[in-house]
Amino acid sequence: MCGIVGYIGKRQAYPVLIKGLKRLEYRGYDSAGVALITESSGLQVYKTKGKVADLEKYTDGKDVTGTIGIAHTRWATHGEPNSTNAHPHISASGQLAIIHNGIIENYAVLKDQLMEKGVEFRSDTDTEVLVQLIDYIRTKKNVDLLTSVRMALRMVIGAYALAIIDKDNPDQIIAARQSSPLVVGIGDGEFFLGSDASPIVEYTDKVVYLDDQDIAVINRNSDHVEFVNVNNEKIDHEIKKINLNLSQIEKGGYPHFMLKEIFEQPQCLMDCMRGRVNVDLNNVVLSAVIDYRKELINARRFIIVACGTSWHAGLIGKQLIENFCQIPVEVEYASEFRYSNPVIDNRDVVIAISQSGETADTLAAVELAKKRGAFIFGICNAIGSSIPRATNTGSYIHVGPEIGVASTKAFTGQVTVLTMLSLAIAKARGTIENHEYETLVRELNAIPEKQKQLLDECNEKIHEIAKIFTYARNFLYLGRGYNYPVALEGALKLKEISYIHAEGYPAAEMKHGPIALIDEEMPVVVVATKNALYEKLMSNIQEIKARKGRVIAIVSKDDDKVRELADEYIELPKTLECLEPLLATIPLQLMAYYIAVAKGKDVDQPRNLAKSVTVE
Ligand code: GLU
Repeated sequence: MCGIVGYIGKRQAYPVLIKGLKRLEYRGYDSAGVALITESSGLQVYKTKGKVADLEKYTDGKDVTGTIGIAHTRWATHGEPNSTNAHPHISASGQLAIIHNGIIENYAVLKDQLMEKGVEFRSDTDTEVLVQLIDYIRTKKNVDLLTSVRMALRMVIGAYALAIIDKDNPDQIIAARQSSPLVVGIGDGEFFLGSDASPIVEYTDKVVYLDDQDIAVINRNSDHVEFVNVNNEKIDHEIKKINLNLSQIEKGGYPHFMLKEIFEQPQCLMDCMRGRVNVDLNNVVLSAVIDYRKELINARRFIIVACGTSWHAGLIGKQLIENFCQIPVEVEYASEFRYSNPVIDNRDVVIAISQSGETADTLAAVELAKKRGAFIFGICNAIGSSIPRATNTGSYIHVGPEIGVASTKAFTGQVTVLTMLSLAIAKARGTIENHEYETLVRELNAIPEKQKQLLDECNEKIHEIAKIFTYARNFLYLGRGYNYPVALEGALKLKEISYIHAEGYPAAEMKHGPIALIDEEMPVVVVATKNALYEKLMSNIQEIKARKGRVIAIVSKDDDKVRELADEYIELPKTLECLEPLLATIPLQLMAYYIAVAKGKDVDQPRNLAKSVTVE
């Protein structure tokens, strides 16, 4: 997944690059590196295994001067995460340095061809082939850097966001994009590059998001960036203004981004609903449902494609849409869907959910569905990212940048958008009674306040409970109906950041297997709110207790039975059953967080994971 940063201008590049890498570290943290064209010693590349802080230690006392540079934080796909495989990679002649995010699928063939011609490779990465190929073409054909980049990219199959510099030209960076995100920031006499806008916001609010097949030629002392494609045809790009401020991407007094983001949820959901949910007028307005009313209300079927946490949000979306809109919904893993042979046509609406808007599998699923004629609706967070640009319409979740690798506020934002979407469509189709619609609008609007109350009431208690359960090697999470996906999401959070094995199950399925695992060591988290399935859940809890399992129950405030049975319980404010996930998820996020912290784990950057999964 990797984060890439670049700078050319009048400032010293190194501090800009390091700060930028820290902002992008959520995208990968196997190794970090920087290439600078320094004032006294020419092209210098510093790279090391580990995080950006390790790179800083490594460069201590070294020459990091210069006003041009590129930098990278890696999530390894090809080649062990060691210092040799760290980016930037230099061509064998030592002339060019490259950073890359993505996968070069035909790298093995290209590498063999270059090796036959005598080019020596140093790393095990797919990326190195790019820089070697570009340099080979440059010297053999005696062409300039741009021409060699264009020619090389015509031979390459795969995904890339890349930036390349030439040691003899401290006045130019060339960057290109295919499938992996890349943004150019345009300042006053200076230019920035980033995998997203976070390394750029501090210096300028003017950006250009590259499209697939774009090559950006960034020259010092120019007042603009030139864009061409691989055939050297000029491309015009509109300069966009970004609306992101620094406090949104900093920790703001919290020890971890994850905790900050959990606590931000009430505000995020208010932002998500602003201008969309209006209690005075008793309605929910989504511009996409106004603009594309016909396509949405006449849908024969919805197919939700997503991965990970977004897929869990999709499972809640299915229940919402089927219950209120009376339209069948399928929920698919995007990674499976993209390689399947789905029976879809223009009567189907595909909903693609992705926080980053860059999830490679989800993007590929969108492309496939588009080809088969489906109408595509995107639910994303990152404005201007690839999925929103590939869809027919959609609704942003507007929860602000999510930096913690384990998704929290994006999940509740996605569920909120799915709730608004199902209400807006149901109303337009006439499949919901007025009084039910009005109650839902009112209750949805009240959720942020209830989340605030819940966070106040449960934070300390969960902090204490977490300490008891750090011994556990396995956890089971159970829920039913709308809370079944909540159980899946709770288990995923725990796995991701504490490395404790956890499984989510529909509570009644427990007796078809997982019950065999229950003994006095096994913590079982049960979302057991007072709704239609309450009595059934009570029986499930009895079954666990009969086998001496340790129950941590999430209960409604007016519960009087489950809390008696449970070893520990957390109370939720009352709300409608279909809105419970927006509350019940919060204690599970906090529990995963505090258990991971108590175990001394790196909560914001858990091992092997990265935030924005831009590779397959
Ligand atoms: N494939 C490159 C590597 O393994 C880049 C990885 C990525 O973008 O995630 O170094």
